Amino acid sequence: MTAAARRTFRFVDWTLRPDQDDDAPPLTYAFRCLALTEDDTECAARSPASWDPARPQDWAFMHMREHPEHTSYAEVIERPWVMWRGCPS
Ligand SMILES: [Zn+2]
Repeated sequence: MTAAARRTFRFVDWTLRPDQDDDAPPLTYAFRCLALTEDDTECAARSPASWDPARPQDWAFMHMREHPEHTSYAEVIERPWVMWRGCPS
């Protein structure tokens, strides 16, 4: 058996699943500005990540007050996942 084949075999029993354990990192939310600037590049300003989905929305209103033409945003959600040995029950 080659080294590469052994490495593949080792990962067969692992499952990737959303981490919902009590000590899992929290789900976090952020907003990113999608507005294009005058030279057609994305503004890309981004709110701090927060476990409270309302906080990034407050940031979007603040950002629009500073840049009234920036009206397009994307919500960026970070969900923790974990590798699990064997099949989840
Ligand atoms: Zn912007």
